[in-house]
Amino acid sequence: MCGIVGIHGHDEAAKVAYLGLHALQHRGQEGAGISTWDGTRLRAWRGLGLVGDVYGGQELDKLPGTSAIGHVRYSTSGESSLRNVQPFVVRYREGQVAIAHNGNLVNAAEIRGRLEARGSIFATSSDTEVILHLVATSIQGTFINRLVDALMQVEGAYSLVLLSEDRLVAVRDPMGFRPLVLGRLGDAWIIASETTALDLVGGTVEREVEPGEMIIIEDGRVMSLSPFPRRERKSCVFEHVYFARPNSDVFSRPVYDSRFGWGRRLARSAPVEADVALPVPDSGTPAALGYAFESKLTFKQGLIRSHYVGRTFIEPSQQIRDFGVKLKLSPVRSVIEGKRLVVIDDSIVRGTTSRKIVRLLRAAGAAEVHLRICSPPIIASCFYGVDTPTQEELIAHRLDIEETRAHIGADSLAYLPMEALHAELGEDSGSYCDACFSGRYPIPPRPGVDTPQLPLFRSEESDAV
Ligand code: SF4
Repeated sequence: MCGIVGIHGHDEAAKVAYLGLHALQHRGQEGAGISTWDGTRLRAWRGLGLVGDVYGGQELDKLPGTSAIGHVRYSTSGESSLRNVQPFVVRYREGQVAIAHNGNLVNAAEIRGRLEARGSIFATSSDTEVILHLVATSIQGTFINRLVDALMQVEGAYSLVLLSEDRLVAVRDPMGFRPLVLGRLGDAWIIASETTALDLVGGTVEREVEPGEMIIIEDGRVMSLSPFPRRERKSCVFEHVYFARPNSDVFSRPVYDSRFGWGRRLARSAPVEADVALPVPDSGTPAALGYAFESKLTFKQGLIRSHYVGRTFIEPSQQIRDFGVKLKLSPVRSVIEGKRLVVIDDSIVRGTTSRKIVRLLRAAGAAEVHLRICSPPIIASCFYGVDTPTQEELIAHRLDIEETRAHIGADSLAYLPMEALHAELGEDSGSYCDACFSGRYPIPPRPGVDTPQLPLFRSEESDAV
């Protein structure tokens, strides 16, 4: 998963992009990058790590210009590679172009194989580079027509921002898997994965970029095209379950309200005799508030999250990952000791974290631990840009609910029923992808076809273009 921003018509475009990326940091911690058009050429500065680390010095001063795009990247394979950090900036025969992508193309490996057979050379292992090759090799005359031609050939999830010299282009795939919003910042235009980025820079939200829409911003004017055949909308429900910030509106719907509402529904479908309701912070908090509200239980913070443990620190080895839960979450003994707890979390993926949390709570003196999960069991992997593991690694694929409860060591375990997930979304519920919970993929995955990974390439230096 990744986060993207675009800004057009602002004297400090790179700084606005930087702030926007800060607000989107939860969408990716592996690397960050910004590209600007300085009036004569596209520049870029990219690096591994958090936004504040990549731009900890004078880097933004090297990115002049009134238009910019930016990207934060989520680690999808555990390995970090600077060459996969976006925006990618390339020069082809018609000029320069920079691209930043959130999502995953399901047919990238097939297209890449075809292009490589014809002699194309790829510099990264990213599916995004396929789009650039298709643009460069298109026989269409203008950049926009080349881009449309390229995107007609790809399938899957993409929310994109591109700079073609001073022109900012934003595109969302026809099914609208990943979010993208259009906003204003004074006279400037801003595009971002989530509304929280606009809030941070003091911008205002104009509207969602529609599925299948291409927005072109040039000379202060905004043009909207719908160049792709219409498809049924399938926005990712997991953005609301876990991924997006609770203060964002995603797919024109407040994320906080979804989580709070699901918490209330979970309390109705899976009540339990308990003394206290606790969230697994941070993503479980609005759901736990909803659960506590509906069940009239006291809400307490029994687990305190450390905000100083970076993802990158807990990534490298299983040994450190095991220690990671204790580093991240500290139990509040006075809340826990002797109490019957109902613990609310957003989802269970492998089950390893839930098991450690239950152990942590018991070690702190909990009398009972009842786990309530504010989404249905995850039974299938995501092929559209969320980093879920292989199906075999998903605990709900291997074990039923009672087996999962026993494995985790909780006194009871219940998930949000699928009907309740959809009921909360109301009449829009059919426009959401729920494939990781249902196995019903809106675009069939291509098993056995994967984007090949290049060997690890690590450098502290960024590659200013
Ligand atoms: Fe989102 Fe799950 Fe669909 Fe992936 S499979 S797009 S995570 S709902």
